[in-house]
Amino acid sequence: MSRAPQDCGARDATARLSVGDATLRQVSPYPDSTAPAVPAPATAPAPLRARLAELRGPVAPRPLDARALAALATNPGCRRRAILDAAGVDKSAVASRIGRPAPFGQSQFAIARGHAFEARVTADRCAELLRLLGERLGVPVPGEVDLPDLDAAGPAGRTERTRLALAEATAAGRWALLEHPMLRLDVAGSPVHLEPDAVVVHPDGTWTVVEVKSFPILDGSADPSKVGAAARQAAVYVLALEEAARSTGRGRPGETVLLVCPRDFSNLPTASPVDVRKQLSVTRRQLARLTRIEEIAAALPEGTTFDLRPAEDGRTPTRPPRELAAAVDSVPAAYSPECLSTCELAFHCRERARQCGAVQALGRAVRGELGGLTTVEQVLAAARGPVDPDDPAARRLHRAARLRAGAPAGAPAGAPAGADPAERPGAAEHAPGGAAAPGGRGREAVACR
Ligand code: SF4
Repeated sequence: MSRAPQDCGARDATARLSVGDATLRQVSPYPDSTAPAVPAPATAPAPLRARLAELRGPVAPRPLDARALAALATNPGCRRRAILDAAGVDKSAVASRIGRPAPFGQSQFAIARGHAFEARVTADRCAELLRLLGERLGVPVPGEVDLPDLDAAGPAGRTERTRLALAEATAAGRWALLEHPMLRLDVAGSPVHLEPDAVVVHPDGTWTVVEVKSFPILDGSADPSKVGAAARQAAVYVLALEEAARSTGRGRPGETVLLVCPRDFSNLPTASPVDVRKQLSVTRRQLARLTRIEEIAAALPEGTTFDLRPAEDGRTPTRPPRELAAAVDSVPAAYSPECLSTCELAFHCRERARQCGAVQALGRAVRGELGGLTTVEQVLAAARGPVDPDDPAARRLHRAARLRAGAPAGAPAGAPAGADPAERPGAAEHAPGGAAAPGGRGREAVACR
């Protein structure tokens, strides 16, 4: 007997959750029948694949997962990461070899806790998960939900099995729950295999991604950065489902995913819909940019390679660190403090950004405020004047320097706080040589913060 869909908002306070980077509130109804047409996939020509293999060296490419693809999308301007990821280079090994390993990834404790929580949610043929799906999506009692067996040999076999299961369930117009399906997404011409926690097939052909995470929803709120990361990861799965929809000629991936987390301080699961349209559009755009990897590769100096040249044991790298670092530095980067939580090369890139006084090391917000001024040296020069009346960032800096210079000793008469020095006669005479340039110590503190 079918169970009627129920009012999610009335049953679970978490429906009112909202975070900065992703919205946990249900903004589009299930089933999502308004998803846009699936765009064509990006593929890369064979010469590019050969060039990427050359850059990687004679080792197996490091497979990209949804987390890595999502991280790639958070910094779309970074050519360094784009080409290293496209070539399947082990960035962690490269960072270690050049002497700047970054502590990166989840702790063993967090991984174990995540596994334990997921095991609880999926125990007894997904009994708990089906209960949550019943609350949120109106999925009927377990007996009326197909749970297809997706076992097969290797990622390619599992992908094909998943594809068939999706097609069959959609054609039959039945509810189905696919636990740990295997999906495929072409990235720069190479297949990436991705494994979401679950996918629900609705009778009308909508497919909903379900992500199980171990961070808690406390009193109706969740950590925005964690929800944002989960949303970006889920968006990658939705893109892979779009590829499956294209290949089967059936199905419609929904743009709202279901996040399953522990509730409050208990280990009891709760579920919340998350709108991932924004993450989808950013990730789609970034993956489209990967088709331009060829341009990045073509711009590299002759002979550039990130080959770690393993010793006879096949593991120990033998490449001189200086040479490897030079190869890494030959690709332009776009460092920002966010890299510290998303990229294995963050310590190396941060050091390089500091060395050349790049303002991007101070964060994207500061970088955006400074307009065309890209180095700390340029910023200090603009603050000291003479003022460029056509550059609003330079004018603001000059004014700030004047205020700072006047504050400790008292502003001179005729120089009221708030007046733009660029608009006063004799402004250049008051250029705050010492005050705006607070000495080597101050400059270092700004550049290396
Ligand atoms: S750490 Fe470096 S390579 Fe990684 S995304 Fe940031 S700038 Fe790019």
